[in-house]
Amino acid sequence: MKNLEAVEIWYVTGSQHLYGEKALRQVAANSRKIVAALNEGGRLPVKLVFKPVMTTPDEIRQLCLDANNTRQCGGLILWMHTFSPSKMWIGGLTALRKPFLHLHTQFNRDLPWGEIDMDFMNLNQAAHGDREAGFIHTRLRLNRKVVVGHWSEADVQDGIAAWMRAARAWHDWQSAKFCRFGDNMRQVAVTEGDKVSAEIKFGYSVNGFGVGHLVNAVSAVADRAIAKLCDEYEQCYEVAAELRKGGARHESLRVGARIELGLRAFLKDGGFKGFTTTFEDLLSLKQLPGLAVQRLMADGYGFGAEGDWKTCALVRAMMVMGEGLPGGTSFMEDYTYHLAPDGQLVLGAHMLEICESIADGKPSLEIHPLGIGGKEDPVRLVFDTRTGPAVNASVIDLGNRFRLIVNEVDVVKPPQPLPKLPVARAVWKCRPDFKTACAAWIHAGAAHHSGFSQAVTTEQMEDFAAIAGVELAVIDAKTELRAFKQQLRNDEIYYHLAPGLGRT
Ligand code: MN
Repeated sequence: MKNLEAVEIWYVTGSQHLYGEKALRQVAANSRKIVAALNEGGRLPVKLVFKPVMTTPDEIRQLCLDANNTRQCGGLILWMHTFSPSKMWIGGLTALRKPFLHLHTQFNRDLPWGEIDMDFMNLNQAAHGDREAGFIHTRLRLNRKVVVGHWSEADVQDGIAAWMRAARAWHDWQSAKFCRFGDNMRQVAVTEGDKVSAEIKFGYSVNGFGVGHLVNAVSAVADRAIAKLCDEYEQCYEVAAELRKGGARHESLRVGARIELGLRAFLKDGGFKGFTTTFEDLLSLKQLPGLAVQRLMADGYGFGAEGDWKTCALVRAMMVMGEGLPGGTSFMEDYTYHLAPDGQLVLGAHMLEICESIADGKPSLEIHPLGIGGKEDPVRLVFDTRTGPAVNASVIDLGNRFRLIVNEVDVVKPPQPLPKLPVARAVWKCRPDFKTACAAWIHAGAAHHSGFSQAVTTEQMEDFAAIAGVELAVIDAKTELRAFKQQLRNDEIYYHLAPGLGRT
């Protein structure tokens, strides 16, 4: 994946000096064993780094400052092996700028019923030590994930893994740059928003570039590079005969390759992690970038069409969350419906720009007319999407805050072939059902664009929302519309008052 930095998570154990040096040595040894086992368990996507056992306020404060200043530190896991009086943690935690997870575990899985004595009791105190910690986290109004259970359990490790993925995506957003070619599709509301608020809240910046910059980069591409890329296309895809070398429309494929190479060079030079385009502002680009966008997404660039920078950033975050997991992630749009009463379906697609990472099988590379934009026919990859569970997510700007909406869906095989539809597409069923899901999505104000992923889970999105401190509305199998609408109303009040409660 492009521009993805290595991240590590620090494993921090809390204790105090009350129990003597021998007990502290044992605490440290136990923590090291947990870290080693978690690292070797093969379920965590990010390396866990053991940190010395914390026993004083100064140590804790210094550790948190070090975490802030260590670029590769993506967050902390905190665990109170023994009782660690939590006033000791106030200075550090109020300074901490990295996310944390509170692991509520115990070194020993089973109580040694026949052997248990006060030494065992003094060493295995997480049952109350972690409650003391939980109080101060809550008292400080800190967002965190709490994972409960023995550290050897698969579901405990998976809970940590999901949070690590969210923490890595958050880390990736900090100082990320997104490039916006042109501006917004004229008059469209949901793709607008406050980029200053987004940078304050989310840590990424979005800046505009006249499409002329892209035109220049595309013009500068060498013919030799174009020929090489066209060869690569023939290896990767089922290329339509007319587009192949010697085919009647090979020149159109060369135009597509030229756009890809120019766009790629511009994004690389600028260190961007994603970009937006708009078909209303293409200047002398001969085609709307279709194939290029599809392939750049597959390399990890976030994308939003029609200037949709919020979805672009979200798609990038979802790509980072899903990195290394089976299933792909793409920009998506709810395009059209199948409204049969016995099974309503959504057909998701866009004019062109759907990422090949979700393709079922080898995509075909084709050329067809495009009614919008007034340019030459664009080349594009055409495919169906793999079946199975997926999420659609949207970030919107409500004026006083951002809201993240997630809908769980199930991708299905299209009931019939779509021989005349010349774009990549996904067909899905919504959870809990079509009518509830669509009504909830619309009540929440979620966009017609989304980040779609078959790798990312709702749990990861929930962890991400908690780290970001952003409102989350989930539409899943349990959603009931009346309660969902009430939750949105409650959130209006909560997020209005939250800054006064010490939350931002
Ligand atoms: Mn669109």
